[in-house]
Amino acid sequence: MIPFNIPPYYGTEMDYVREAAETNRKICGDGPFTKRCHEWIEQRFGAQKALLTTSGTTALEMAAILSGVGPGDEVILPSFTFSSTATAFQMVGATLVFVDVRPDTMNIDESKIEAAITDRTKVVVPVHYAGVACEMDTIMEIARRHNLVVVEDAAQGVMSTYKGRALGTIGDFGCYSFHETKNYSMGEGGAVLIRDAEHNDQAEIIREKGTNRQRFFRGQVDKYTWVDRGSSYLPSDMNAAYLFAQLEHADEINDDRLHTWHFYDEALRPLAEGGRIELPTIPEECVHNAHMYYLKCRDLAERTDFIAFMKERGVGCSFHYVPLHSSPAGLRFGRFDGKDEFTTSESDRLVRLPMFYSMSDEDRNTVMDNVLAFFS
Ligand SMILES: *Cc1c(COP(=O)(O)O)cnc(C)c1O
Repeated sequence: MIPFNIPPYYGTEMDYVREAAETNRKICGDGPFTKRCHEWIEQRFGAQKALLTTSGTTALEMAAILSGVGPGDEVILPSFTFSSTATAFQMVGATLVFVDVRPDTMNIDESKIEAAITDRTKVVVPVHYAGVACEMDTIMEIARRHNLVVVEDAAQGVMSTYKGRALGTIGDFGCYSFHETKNYSMGEGGAVLIRDAEHNDQAEIIREKGTNRQRFFRGQVDKYTWVDRGSSYLPSDMNAAYLFAQLEHADEINDDRLHTWHFYDEALRPLAEGGRIELPTIPEECVHNAHMYYLKCRDLAERTDFIAFMKERGVGCSFHYVPLHSSPAGLRFGRFDGKDEFTTSESDRLVRLPMFYSMSDEDRNTVMDNVLAFFS
């Protein structure tokens, strides 16, 4: 049986978790391992500020609060995304405006954003699907002209770049996920990246239950107190210890995933060239992180048969997402702007192959033999 996903495990994680518990005796948030993760992310990605959170979802919630959006404001996002992209902004009372995706990358179609902007629009949320960047120069230029905040949902984009810049560091705020299904993991976790230092204080306050505790620790105030909105968004240092072990080996993990990605891609190219299936496009400006490998079947019926065929042969394949604009909550909290040219039709055809750190050659071959058997 080849599962669809196995959580990343490098092998040094438990040494660090033990160090947190037995040596550091610091297991709540913002201990030594959390600081090491922050420094690693800031240095490696050139981020002004990184703060670990309890999930990618709560990183997006922090970004939503920091964006200053509220009831009556509109947020532009793709419909083809995970629910958290929407819930974070729905929770602060914003109205969701869904825009179509490009069929080649399944990212928001930058050419359809401007038509969705009204005088209530405050934020645009590019989601870097499969760790492949959205057309960020165009999106940033539109945002500048219309005075919009850009929140990058880079949950899948850790270690990916656009024109050499790390995803998550281009917009005003960037959000990472360290869920077990992502490239680097702490079980449940995430990070929010902040581009402009003027937001640092508020971010620390939001993350620490609305208190100015961080300023107190730095000796900037002589007592700490409740000063603003907030919640508890900081993860345990044990989880950060687990993550740090993987960040230290980020290149090895990335190379390993890319190896699987290219193996699949080369094996499937002839089928794609023959017009039998479609494969992901990687624009020239983008360096991706092999977060996932997907292909597109002819239609929903063929995809259903494909997944059943693979399952019978012990290979776990999976699809996503039910477009948010046609979901029960999406109908209540949002609307689709323009025509749904690709979102529904393309998401019906898309299927993901097993992709995880340290897949064996045998696993990779088994997956490919079965995919090729189905389509030939
Ligand atoms: C995984 C994911 C999230 C949510 O991250 P969690 O850590 O699971 O909360 C948000 N957006 C996208 C695009 C994701 O893939």
